[in-house]
Amino acid sequence: MFLSDVTLKNTESDINYSLDNQGRKYDGTEGTKDRSKLQSNEFPKSSILHDMLDNFYNEMKHFTDEKFVKDKIDMSYIDKRDFECALCLRILWEPVSTACGHTFCRVCLNRCLDHQTNCPLCKTSLVNFLAERVQSITEFLDKAIKLLLPNDYAERKALYDEEMEELSSAGKDPEHVIPLFVCTIAFPTIPCPLHVFEPRYRLMIRQCMESGSRQFGMCAFVDNEIAEYGTMLEIRDVQYFADGRSVVDTIGSRRFRILRKGERDGYNTGAVEYLKDEPLLGNNLQEVIEMHDQVYKVSQAWFMRLPRDTKQEILQHFGPMPEIEDSYISSANGPSWFWWMLAVLPIEPKSRLMILSMTSLQHRLKTLYRVLLHLQSNIVV
Ligand SMILES: [Zn+2]
Ligand SMILES: [Zn+2]
Repeated sequence: MFLSDVTLKNTESDINYSLDNQGRKYDGTEGTKDRSKLQSNEFPKSSILHDMLDNFYNEMKHFTDEKFVKDKIDMSYIDKRDFECALCLRILWEPVSTACGHTFCRVCLNRCLDHQTNCPLCKTSLVNFLAERVQSITEFLDKAIKLLLPNDYAERKALYDEEMEELSSAGKDPEHVIPLFVCTIAFPTIPCPLHVFEPRYRLMIRQCMESGSRQFGMCAFVDNEIAEYGTMLEIRDVQYFADGRSVVDTIGSRRFRILRKGERDGYNTGAVEYLKDEPLLGNNLQEVIEMHDQVYKVSQAWFMRLPRDTKQEILQHFGPMPEIEDSYISSANGPSWFWWMLAVLPIEPKSRLMILSMTSLQHRLKTLYRVLLHLQSNIVV
């Protein structure tokens, strides 16, 4: 590769020159001796090696100096193809080097490692590299690109910023396209732990974290299609396993309706509008508050009558039923306990979705009440 030729040629000759300057001779025998010393832990005593490393370090530092690069490097030798990522064929961005010596854009390498644990070029196992999850940027290369190809570097940076901007703005604007995790029905304020192993969702979660948006839409697959309604999930924590799988701790926030479906990087996306409860006015308000208090009591009673094992299971999975919040009347999604009930009730996904889509608290409460009466009558039978 041309780049390694340039760096090796320059550093080698410069190191030799510096050593000559100091009146020392460097031959193969010394080098062999030094290596054996290194193995026998006598490394600090090798002044030649020390000098070499110092000189090497100083010479490397020159490459961060714009003037040095312009004066000393014949730019006609610079071929930008030598700085391209083998995966995306663009200039390396945030270059990361593997133990096998190959370098890729950090994002490209990670995408590749979602599907396999080997180096995409030489097939060396990168299991340890993955397990450490420490992916330092190869700073020297990053700086070299910045100095040698300033225009390409700026262009690549703009492209990366644009991609990140697109990902980070997901979900903020009502017209915006959000990433969709098609798996289950989630509810506002209710935690939803996820085990992420599919490559496309590994990528999606990473993009959510890297772009800083930390949220995505969750919706179910019902009747052979992506459900029209879903809930945004906010990422609270991600725990990675050595093999790249992860457990993602999320909690439901806004509800949405999908207006248009799309796809990005292999996963589903949706242009959505967010759902908000209709405001409660005048006489209606008192009526809804009374209904709310009544349905809350019936819900509590239903839960208390469940068999002990079922209760235990629900508590383990969803935690206790939330208390009534003071602000539930004016909130966009009404009281949290309602969503907790909807999550734990033994009803069809279609019924859950129908209730999730309702923007009238009064209608939701009425429907829940009817469902509870129905469940109670079934128990009696
Ligand atoms: Zn790349
Ligand atoms: Zn490799």
